Amino acid sequence: MNILILGSGGREHALAWAIRQNPKCDRLFVAPGNAGMEPLVRLAELDILSGPAVIGFCEENAIDLVVVGPEAPLAAGVADDLRGAGILVFGPSRAAAMLEASKSFTKEVCDACGAPTAAWARFDAAEPARAYIHEKGVPIVIKADGLAAGKGVTVAMTGAEAIAAVDDAFGGAFGEAGAEVVIEEFMEGEEASFFILCDGTDCLPIGTAQDHKRVGEGDTGPNTGGMGAYSPAPVLTPAIQEQVMDEIVRPTVAEMARRGTPFQGVLYAGLMIQNGRARLVEYNVRFGDPECQVLMLRLGAQALDLILACAEGRLSDMTVNWADDHALTVVLAANGYPGTYEKGSAIRGLDTLPQDSFRMVFHAGTARKDGQIVASGGRVLAATGRGATLAEAHERAYELARAIDWPEGFYRRDIGWRAL
Ligand code: ATP
Repeated sequence: MNILILGSGGREHALAWAIRQNPKCDRLFVAPGNAGMEPLVRLAELDILSGPAVIGFCEENAIDLVVVGPEAPLAAGVADDLRGAGILVFGPSRAAAMLEASKSFTKEVCDACGAPTAAWARFDAAEPARAYIHEKGVPIVIKADGLAAGKGVTVAMTGAEAIAAVDDAFGGAFGEAGAEVVIEEFMEGEEASFFILCDGTDCLPIGTAQDHKRVGEGDTGPNTGGMGAYSPAPVLTPAIQEQVMDEIVRPTVAEMARRGTPFQGVLYAGLMIQNGRARLVEYNVRFGDPECQVLMLRLGAQALDLILACAEGRLSDMTVNWADDHALTVVLAANGYPGTYEKGSAIRGLDTLPQDSFRMVFHAGTARKDGQIVASGGRVLAATGRGATLAEAHERAYELARAIDWPEGFYRRDIGWRAL
């Protein structure tokens, strides 16, 4: 079959790498993709936020399945348009993607199905929000309701921070995304991510992970898109996974179906774990980046069978063929990231690296210039290793990272510290 992946980051490179292993895959396109994905895939230039543009490409190239990587095309309704045109797609409808696009929507769904999460209230004006903060005290969490690229959340330790976050949101700091604000109880515990395929009715867990959001070692400094991740997450024990499926995921999927907006795609549950129980922090409606890199290295070729079954509504027939393995990924970012950074510096040493089912360098922000790979983004590469233990996966990932000759980039040396 011919497959089109939408997106351009390390997540999409990892999806492409896993899908390519599967003999069912004939031609594989990524739009817009990046230079590092060649020659594994063909790059396609098209507006991935436009349903008609994606449909046109699918018709011209006899595409049988579209896999949507990032949230923006989902929130724009591209999956709906594809389904309307009779094209098989992996990814939720715009209505189901509300589980990521609106925090108050998710909270309402949790309340309706009894899923454990932080106590919350919603505001559309600053004055009542300030009064609520005074009533509840700190710590407290202030969130712009809509998509704000991870920047719309303030975990406020002081009243002044909380009030400032409310004033920022209603002052327009997040545009439309901050027109409504959700204020939540602060949850203590350890965070982990759980990935579940859902076909509208049935659910199939496909792995757990933990990521490192802060730019600096020891989890310090400003937030980033993610500096590394590992899978599985030891804190998500089998018993807690069962609790999450029973109390959070299946009830959510049933509630979405009851509303007439079934969820189909990957549900990424961000969880807070304390005293052997998990509560929901947030849902995302797509794979995480860089969590996808570790999941795909672990799943390999079967990822396509699972994604296809999900898109076709056949998940009840599927099981995951687990190897007893671990994976870890280290993100190489441009010096200065997540602040300002230069683009265009040459990256050397990539051609001679071992790349197999235990070691892969996924490209996130690279381009080709005069026959050479150059950096073209903030997060640029994800050096990913797999092994029988987390320590082995760690060693393989760092061997790759050390072998890459790129003085204009940096990486954290402590990815996985909590689990190691
Ligand atoms: P991202 O895109 O970075 O995943 P987001 O903008 O969608 O984030 P959330 O995931 O809801 O927002 O919150 C971001 C982070 O803030 C969480 O990963 C968590 O560390 C922290 N956080 C959010 N809600 C709470 C809460 N109720 N209690 C404690 N910490 C929280």
